[in-house]
Amino acid sequence: MNYVYFDNNATTPVRPEVFEAMRPFLSPDGIYGNPSSLHSAGQKAHTALETAREQVAALLGAADPSEIVFTSCGTEADNMALIGAAFEHRAKGRHLITSAVEHHAVLHTLDYLAREHNFEVTELPVDGEGRIRPSDLAAALRPDTILVSLMTANNEIGTVQPIAELGAICREKKVLFHTDAVQAAGKMPLDLKNWPVEMAAISGHKIYGPKGIGALYLRRGVRLQALLHGGSHEKNRRAGTENVPGAVGLGVACDLARREMDAEVPRVRALRDRFERGVLSNVPGVSVNGGGALRLGNTSNLTFDCVEGESLVLALDQAGFALKRPDLPGVEISTGSACASGLLEPSHVLKAIGVSRERIHGSVRFSLGHFNTEADVDFALRVLPVAVDRLRQMSPLWEERGRRAANQ
Ligand code: PLP
Repeated sequence: MNYVYFDNNATTPVRPEVFEAMRPFLSPDGIYGNPSSLHSAGQKAHTALETAREQVAALLGAADPSEIVFTSCGTEADNMALIGAAFEHRAKGRHLITSAVEHHAVLHTLDYLAREHNFEVTELPVDGEGRIRPSDLAAALRPDTILVSLMTANNEIGTVQPIAELGAICREKKVLFHTDAVQAAGKMPLDLKNWPVEMAAISGHKIYGPKGIGALYLRRGVRLQALLHGGSHEKNRRAGTENVPGAVGLGVACDLARREMDAEVPRVRALRDRFERGVLSNVPGVSVNGGGALRLGNTSNLTFDCVEGESLVLALDQAGFALKRPDLPGVEISTGSACASGLLEPSHVLKAIGVSRERIHGSVRFSLGHFNTEADVDFALRVLPVAVDRLRQMSPLWEERGRRAANQ
């Protein structure tokens, strides 16, 4: 890779080991059988699918591989958990709980359930670091609450939630608990067997697997209404011929993440910390969003005073640090969650932690990953202060701030 990629929370490149493992499943000479077919070509695909299920279960700390349902992405896994549980258990109640900082895969799905199916949704607030207070959850639970969905770790600022504690509050009241673990998987240990969690969503393309595959962890005995109908695949939980190459890729990605986690998580954290310290000491007027909380080790969400986040991304591009041109060095970053970018809507996560609208527009997410090196951090620390300085020289707000400081 000839450019520096700091947008791993948006998506990750596929690891070569994953690509090689998938290759036979995409070749006409390879393993292309339908895993539901009884002949040997089908059975080979079936065996590969079940191996992948074991690998995913191992990363999540599930009690049994049968608790893993393959989906097309993290969004589908969230939809399956939320809609499936809401429909299955609606006779018991119609109250659902989530938080203000969830991904839109959760928030928009719950909006849909409220709008179209008469459910009522309570959105828990968060503190200034993006943490959900367990006491708020306990107070929000009602006799008609059937489902709580709270993310394991946030995609924009990295805040890690106290999932075991939050889940225990739900378990005590016999309320189903789903966690969106899309950003957490591979970046922190997960122990679903022992956590009081009924459902959890993950996604292949966030952990160096391919796009087009995700999984839902569904604790044994938990019943959902299926979203897709048309076959008995995935033990009647999701109809449709399984994406075998994708599942194999996800399985290998999970296996690599699990084996390497002890070394890789601290390595990436050290890079992120060096990057963040470097920016804070070389660029004035920068603050960290969510920096006071337990945070994913790869994520750094920074607000640059008097700078527009979008302009900063473009400035790095214009300075010759091309985003998509592998012939030029460049830095790829994101002004928020990839799914929200392009909308220029202020981030709901930053809003929820109390960042002003103006400062939200000066915020940029840097998310490091497996392929990043010390040299990448050095490069970013060289180009970023220059780009920020250049933008500020054009900012009347920055000029005024300088004048005020001089007069004091
Ligand atoms: N949940 C979180 C926390 C995410 O960050 C994302 C993707 O950005 C998703 C869900 C959706 O995952 P996918 O892109 O696989 O649909």
